[in-house]
Parts: sequence; C-alpha cells; structure tokens
Amino acid sequence: MIPISVVRIDEAAEQLVVEVIRSGVIAQGPMVARLEREFAATVGVEHAVAVNNGTTALVAALEVLDLQPGDEVVTSPFTFVATLNAILEAGATARFADIREDDFCMDPAALAAAIGPRTKVVMPVHLYGQPADMNGILPLVQQHGLGLVEDTAQSLGATIDGRGAGSFGLGTFSLYATKNLTTGEGGMITTNDAGLADRLRILRNQGMRQRYQYEVAGHNYRLTDLQAALGIPQLASYEQNVRRRKDNAARLSAGLADVPGLRLPAELPGRSHVWHQYTVLVTDEAAVGRDEFIARLTEQAVGCGIYYPKTVYDYDCYRDHPRVVADPAPVADRVVRQCVSLPVHHHLTDGDVDRVVEAVRKAAGA
Ligand SMILES: *Cc1c(COP(=O)(O)O)cnc(C)c1O
Repeated sequence: MIPISVVRIDEAAEQLVVEVIRSGVIAQGPMVARLEREFAATVGVEHAVAVNNGTTALVAALEVLDLQPGDEVVTSPFTFVATLNAILEAGATARFADIREDDFCMDPAALAAAIGPRTKVVMPVHLYGQPADMNGILPLVQQHGLGLVEDTAQSLGATIDGRGAGSFGLGTFSLYATKNLTTGEGGMITTNDAGLADRLRILRNQGMRQRYQYEVAGHNYRLTDLQAALGIPQLASYEQNVRRRKDNAARLSAGLADVPGLRLPAELPGRSHVWHQYTVLVTDEAAVGRDEFIARLTEQAVGCGIYYPKTVYDYDCYRDHPRVVADPAPVADRVVRQCVSLPVHHHLTDGDVDRVVEAVRKAAGA
C-alpha cells in the first residue's frame, strides 16, 4: 500500500528527545524557545509562539484581536473543521467567502462581497500547501481596517512573491502528525508585532507573566520540550523535504496531464506551493465517478483521501447554530463532490510516484 501520509522520525530527533529526557526539563523550556526561533526564521517573521496544537493557535490568535460578541470572522467554507471551531470558541460569528477553483483558497472577489459592518477579522486558509491570493486579500483587509489571521496549518514554507505564508498577519500553524512538519501534536503562531507576541506568550501560560502574577484570564496552551525536540531536526531538513514534494508533484502532473476529465492542481504564478496535498478534481467529464475512481485506486493499493467531503458548515451541529452563517459557496459546493488527494509526501520514491500515476490512469480509464 502507498499511504497518503507517513510519519518517520529520524535519528537526529531521537537523540534530541533523549537529551531532553536526560535534562530533566520535559515541559516548556529551552527546546521550545529554540523551535520558536528556528520556526520564525523559516516563515520569515520576528516572532513565533509555540502552543499545543493548531486549533489553540487559531483561538489564541483570534483572542488577541479582542473580538466582541457579534463580531464576524470571514473564512473559507472549504477547510478543516478546526478553522470554524476556533472562531466559535473565540466567541465570534463565522461567515464565509467562496473559494477559487484554481487554488482552492478564498476568492478575493467573494471576500469583498462578504465584508460587512460587523466584519472584524479575515481568516484565509492556505490550503494543501498553496498560499491564498494575498495580493487580492491584503488590500481588502487594509482598506477596511480588519484583523488578519492566516490559517497556515498546511502550508509552512509556502510563499507569495517571496513572502512567507503566515507573515502577512497573525499566522497559525499545526504540527499534527499528518502535517508536513510534525511534533505529534503542536502549533505555532507567527507575527511581526512584538506586542501581540508578548500577549500570546502570556495567554498560553494561564495569563501569567511571572509566577502567580496574572494579567489576563488565560489558558494552558503550552507545548513541551519533548515535542519541540521532535520538530527541530525536521526544520533543518524541511527545505529538502519540500523540494522532494515539489518533484513528486511535478512527476504526478507530467504523468497525468492527458487524463480526460481529471483536473490537476498547479502552482500559481508568484506562489511557492509546499504540496501538503496533491488534490485532483474528478470532473463530470471523467469516465468514472469519484466513488468508483477511489474504489479502483484502493484496489490497486494506492492510498487517497477526500479533504474535505463537505463544506465546513454543512453538518447538523452547525445547521441551526446562532453564530454560523452558511453563506452560499457554489464553487466549494462543487469541489467537495469532486476532490481527491493523492500521495505526494516526501517519503515517496520515483518508483512510488510512477505506481501512483499508473494506478490513477487505470482508475480514470485513461
Ligand atoms: C490541521 C489543521 C488545523 C488544526 O490543527 P490541529 O493541530 O489538528 O489542532 C486547522 N486548520 C487546518 C486547515 C488544518 O489542516
């Protein structure tokens, strides 16, 4: 079986974890500080604040923007549920701007239409490793004086015109097991604003600057040194791993270019894609439907996934939720019916990628 994602922790990480165990500091300590410094450099920002997962990273980022009840956060309808849950946990109302089909991210034109008098924050999602169209989104954020939280959980190292995804506003990252860089569970918030970084550090640690000196009602969102030790060596090899993912994506695209009815993903001009997922659309012109396509891939022992099978608010638990407004999203509604992600991760060999290509061609009847 060629799996859609693999976790492989190398010897360097193993050694660093042992070092932490022997040091006696296993909760948040010097390793977390080191991971933060090196992470900030990777994103190209001044500050990175480590937290215990990507969802709490989103909640903390929203909390330091001082949202009031009734304030609206506009995000993408095509995302992992954490994006929506974080908005609700922060006490805000969730609104949605439809996606573009070519990058699966928030469409600036839809955002322009979604911004209203109660909008306080824009939360684009850099999905699958490709950054959203920040050249279209940022001017709207500035023009309306809004906060900006970039859900960069899937796109560490992606850039727009050379600028890191997650460096435009508050960037939030996930270090969950399936992400490009993982500490098992973990998260990070990035910013160039020293004041916000300071508030985030206090917020993650019970609102405490010095022991028993509480400044705000905070949380325990701390990452541990054990987790940080897993991540540090992966940061060192991250660029190389991304290059491997880019090569795998290029090999998939070359092998699948002529398959009728299959729409392939592409790195858009000015953007650098880190290929968290390689997601194709099985369009109505394809020889098979999506279910059949997936069944045939599985038969050939090629893993795949549907990220995501529905728009994020299309579940009973959000249907009558007073703070979820199901704004129409026709592009996302179609994409959720057609999307399939194929293996592209950096542990694949050329031979593996060729096997994926062959299986996909067969499955699609090419
Ligand atoms: C993974 C992910 C999250 C949540 O991260 P966790 O670490 O699992 O809490 C948020 N948004 C997106 C788009 C994600 O892919």
